[in-house]
This record gives sequence, C-alpha cells and structure tokens, in this order.
Amino acid sequence: MYDLTVVGGGPAGATCARIAAEAGLDVVLLEMAHHPREKPCGGALGPQAVQSLDLDISSVIERTFNAAIVRTPSGKKVTLTSEGLIGHIVTRSEFDSYLLQKAADAGVEVVQGVEVVGLEQLRSGTRALAVGDSYKSHLLVGADGVNGIVARELGVRTKWSPEQIALCYSANVPMSSNDVEAVMMKHGADEAPAIELYFGLVSWGYGWCFPKKNGLNIGIGCRVDKQENLQQTWEKFIAIIEGEKRIELDVSNRVSYRVPLGDKLNRCIARRGMLIGDAAGLVSPFTGEGISYAIQSGALAAKVASEAVESKSPLHIAEYDNQLKKTIGRELMDTRWLTGILNKSHKHMELMFQIVAEDPVMQMHMTDIVSRVTTLSDVRVQIVKRLLSKHPLKALRLGLRG
Ligand SMILES: Cc1cc2nc3c(=O)[nH]c(=O)nc-3n(C[C@H](O)[C@H](O)[C@H](O)COP(=O)(O)OP(=O)(O)OC[C@H]3O[C@@H](n4cnc5c(N)ncnc54)[C@H](O)[C@@H]3O)c2cc1C
Repeated sequence: MYDLTVVGGGPAGATCARIAAEAGLDVVLLEMAHHPREKPCGGALGPQAVQSLDLDISSVIERTFNAAIVRTPSGKKVTLTSEGLIGHIVTRSEFDSYLLQKAADAGVEVVQGVEVVGLEQLRSGTRALAVGDSYKSHLLVGADGVNGIVARELGVRTKWSPEQIALCYSANVPMSSNDVEAVMMKHGADEAPAIELYFGLVSWGYGWCFPKKNGLNIGIGCRVDKQENLQQTWEKFIAIIEGEKRIELDVSNRVSYRVPLGDKLNRCIARRGMLIGDAAGLVSPFTGEGISYAIQSGALAAKVASEAVESKSPLHIAEYDNQLKKTIGRELMDTRWLTGILNKSHKHMELMFQIVAEDPVMQMHMTDIVSRVTTLSDVRVQIVKRLLSKHPLKALRLGLRG
C-alpha cells in the first residue's frame, strides 16, 4: 500500500508527487499518456511559477520576456512591464516531461500509459482502478486536469457549469527564430519580444500571440456561456494578426481545449482525496494562467499529505481546503471581481486600460497582478483607493463607490 497516489502527471501532479516523495512519502503517480505528450497551452510562465517550483528549469526555457503588450478593443496598445520582471516561455511537452523526470528522480514510482477509470473507497484508504490493474494508497490526489474523472469519483463535482469553463482554440505556427524577433512587438528596441494579448474580440476571454523559440503560439479563449461563434472569431483574429504583422500564418494544426476559470472555490477535498491544479478549477479567470496555480496547489497538497501521513490522521487533509481557500481561493474570487468589471463592456475595458496607461501606479499594480508577482487580494484595497482618489470620475463610470 502506497502513502499517496497521484492521478495525472501534468505540472500539478508531478510537483505534488515530487515534493511528497522528498518529504519521505511512498508515492505512485499514474499518467494516462506517455510523456513527452502534447498539452495545448501558450506555455507562458510568470515569476511565481518558477519560484514555487524551486527547480532549475533553464534547460526547458525557450524564451524569456519582460513585458506584455495589451491591445484594447479600440486597437490602442498598452504595455505592462516593471523593473526586473522576467517571464518564461516553455513548450509543455518538454516542460512537463522535465517535471515528471524530477518526480521520478525524487523516488516517485511514475507509471505512464495508465488511465484511471474509477476509485474505490476502502476502510483505510483508496483504490485507484485502471484497466487491468489497481493501486491502493492511504491518500489520493486528483491532478487529472480539466477533463479528469477524480472530482466526479470523489463526489466533489459532476460537471463544470458554463460560467466556470472556457473553450480555447490555439495553434503553433512554425517560423524561424529571426522572423519571430522581427514580427513580435517589443516595448523597447533592444528588448526581447513581448507576449501580446488582444482584448475585445470575445467577452470574458482574449486572444494571444506568444513568441516561441521557432514559431508563434496563437490562441483565443472565451467563457463558454459568452461564446457566439468561436470559429468565426478565430478567423477574424488570425486576419488581424496577419494584417498587423504583414505575414501569412499557417494555423492548420489548430486544436481546441477547455480551461476552467477560477471562481468561488467549492470543496476541493473528499474522504482521503484532494484536488489540485485544473482538476480543482485553479486558473485565473482574467488571464487563463493555470500553471503557477497547478504548481502552488500541488506543493500545498504534498505538504498536507505528508503531515497527514506522519500524524496518521487522514482527516488532516481538511487543512488543504482551509489553506487553499485562504490563499488561491481568495485570489481567484478577487480576480473574478476585476474580470467582471473589465468585461461589463468595451467602454469599461478601454477606461481601465486608459487609466493603466496614464497612471504608473496602476500600471505597476496591473503588471504585478497579471504576472502574479503579487496577488490581487493583497492590493485590491489599494487599487480601489487609488481609483477613487486619483480617477474619481472614471472610477464612478467603472461602477466603483467609496
Ligand atoms: C489553449 C490553452 C492555453 C493556455 N496557456 C497557458 C499559459 O500560457 N500559461 C499558463 O500558466 N496556463 C495556460 N493554460 C492553462 C494550463 O495549461 C493549465 O492550467 C495547466 O496545464 C494545469 O496543469 P494540471 O497539471 O492541473 O493539468 P494538466 O496539465 O491538464 O495535466 C493533467 C494530466 O492528467 C492526465 N490525466 C487525465 N486524466 C487521467 C486519468 N483518468 N488517468 C491518468 N491520467 C490522467 C493527463 O494526461 C495530463 O497529463 C492554457 C490552457 C489552454 C487550454
């Protein structure tokens, strides 16, 4: 019998399993794919993701960036950057393989090509059922992503509601490294290519264009209940980029994938089970960023699991839910609030980005929130105070009151 079974070997599962094994737990990780496996993703990592990993990831970094350039609904460009800001771009197949290898190096038994199809509650543990095999453990972590089965099997959630989920289209466009440098926007002549975010094409979502080592990752995503015709919007978006950059894009490898949009956190635990990463819905509803939340929640679940095993008290996993709600849960709720204001109308979005462009303090706050250098929860009060004191009329139009 293992101490811990982790279902899913993405960033959440690999991090959780590695840290639990480093703390001395006997851990098995079950992954249905064989890594390196594809995962539709822009692959942008903010400083928080790198910090929470506490690993040297330089071998899998494709590019670094130090700014995000936002294109507002009316076509204005607003730069989000700050002194010393460094973000990274990775390719998920390589990044995820690397994290999984680090888990194996730490002593995790990594079993690939095994799809978990059900769970059984035992008197003193859980049994993960795979075709032709089963795995018994004292505790279990569901890290099986947005389409996973663990949440349902634990009785935590049967399905996502439409406002909790976005549909994304994305494509990797091959291009030489020099061409990437030439076509991507920069916030200064000598700066590295920025990541580009295009607002106003969809409600509760945006389009993006990220510089990879040898190509671009282009995508668009939008909350499912706000979507009209994503295919049409995708075509329009591609035409905009082609027009702006004067290039032709080969987007024939376009894929679609879902991403959960963080909301008020429901329960993320059940008897002997914890949910982490996308399986728990831990993604920013503003930026769609989920890798750092996956890593952070994985680390927290590993810590709580090792405490529970050490104290022989499976009930201790309630601590995971408590701490998650106080930290990421609060941040996601605040981010919903901001995303709600921005998405009330194009006018609201223009107004907010106009303030950000004109006011260096608001620019700093927005950069920090988008890159997760700080959490919105930490600065929400300051932001509201700043808006009310320095931009009272605009604040009123945004619907803010003292
Ligand atoms: C188009 C798109 C672009 C994105 N861009 C970004 C970005 O630039 N930056 C960012 O931070 N986030 C981005 N995200 C979000 C990010 O991809 C996710 O938040 C992140 O992958 C979550 O990691 P995870 O480990 O929780 O889940 P996943 O990465 O989805 O990993 C889950 C793993 O579980 C395995 N699995 C599933 N079911 C089973 C089963 N039954 N048995 C065994 N194994 C199973 C899967 O094979 C998979 O390997 C993007 C998402 C999309 C869709």
